[in-house]
Amino acid sequence: MSVTPKGPVNQSDILIVGAGVIGLFCARACAMAGAKVTLVDRARPGQGASMAAAGMLTPGAENRECDPVMMAFGQRALSAWKNLANEDAFPTSIVDLHFRGVLDLSKNQDGLRERALKAQNAAPLLWTQNDLTAFEPELAYEGAALSFPGEGQVDPIKLVAFLEKEVAALGVTLRPETDIISIDLADHPTAKTRTGETFHADHIVLAAAVLPDALWGEGKISPFLPVKGQAISVESDMALLRRIIRLDNFYIAPKAENRLIIGATEEPGRTDLLVKEETVDQLMQKAIALVPGLSEARLLKSWAGHRPAVPDRLPVLGRSRQNSKLIYATGHYRNGILFAPYTADLVSQLILGATGPDWLSAFSPQRFDV
Ligand SMILES: Cc1cc2nc3c(=O)[nH]c(=O)nc-3n(C[C@H](O)[C@H](O)[C@H](O)COP(=O)(O)OP(=O)(O)OC[C@H]3O[C@@H](n4cnc5c(N)ncnc54)[C@H](O)[C@@H]3O)c2cc1C
Repeated sequence: MSVTPKGPVNQSDILIVGAGVIGLFCARACAMAGAKVTLVDRARPGQGASMAAAGMLTPGAENRECDPVMMAFGQRALSAWKNLANEDAFPTSIVDLHFRGVLDLSKNQDGLRERALKAQNAAPLLWTQNDLTAFEPELAYEGAALSFPGEGQVDPIKLVAFLEKEVAALGVTLRPETDIISIDLADHPTAKTRTGETFHADHIVLAAAVLPDALWGEGKISPFLPVKGQAISVESDMALLRRIIRLDNFYIAPKAENRLIIGATEEPGRTDLLVKEETVDQLMQKAIALVPGLSEARLLKSWAGHRPAVPDRLPVLGRSRQNSKLIYATGHYRNGILFAPYTADLVSQLILGATGPDWLSAFSPQRFDV
């Protein structure tokens, strides 16, 4: 269906479609570099996957397969967060950004040793049962762990609230409830909304997480397959954990004020946002088995979100084949909060005409051709 444009015409240097953490960080980076930026979202900033996240910044713990490209990307992303934490103006305590480490539990010490060798750039330490008991006394797990002492977390809800204010202060035009339904690259990049409004820009960045066929310019069928995740938060009377605890894809992330986020399911192909009571119970029981003190904790909230993913679970980050002025920054799957500041650096480099690091080709939007 084609929509005849009507209403005002908007012009900027850079139009960013999607105001989740990826779009917000891209807007921040581009505005800081002096560009006139418009950031549109079909709903409100951060109401998509970003609000559902636990906020873990854990590239080593997350990358169990030790994939070298994800290792390089993840470590650079973690460094980008550490650089932010060192910026005077970045409100580290307001967004609860800290690096207290993560423990990835396992009963297989040999497997952990092997993985520690492969993941050397993440500097993991092998923790024995004695270390676990000494440093996380509330943990009832019998086994060992890889400790990633430099990894951390942030509060995604507080982060979105801060970024929304910050990009406005940097002069970014933020347009909520603006649903982009088509992009025209024939002459000059143009995006059209459902209500017929037109946005013109020198560059368009697609940070809309999951792209429908109409916005996917690299082929007829969009490769995006969101993966639903259900999670809960609880509150305990005392601090039970210092570090994030992970067991396979299950985690308990201790937050400010004795809150803990417990998650999350992995449900590929589920497009609903329903939270099942039995899933909440299962998450709670699994957490109590690891940390018995959680049996006294009060359930605060339960929710579901969709992780933006493509079949190989790598981000989609790079220029369009049709027009180098269209840039994809999507598909960040399980690690979009971790990747966001570094993705934003790469997007600003691509806008300036740089090629980016060699391994960026693994994230090419053209890789779905075959
Ligand atoms: C349960 C769960 C736990 C997670 N935990 C972590 C974690 O601990 N650490 C981590 O790093 N990551 C985590 N993630 C993943 C992380 O949430 C995502 O990778 C990240 O939020 C993706 O950010 P985004 O900005 O690309 O997407 P989103 O936050 O979904 O933002 C995309 C935005 O685009 C807008 N949009 C979409 N289509 C259009 C359109 N046509 N026009 C205009 N706007 C549009 C949407 O409204 C939305 O606001 C988790 C995800 C889930 C579901």
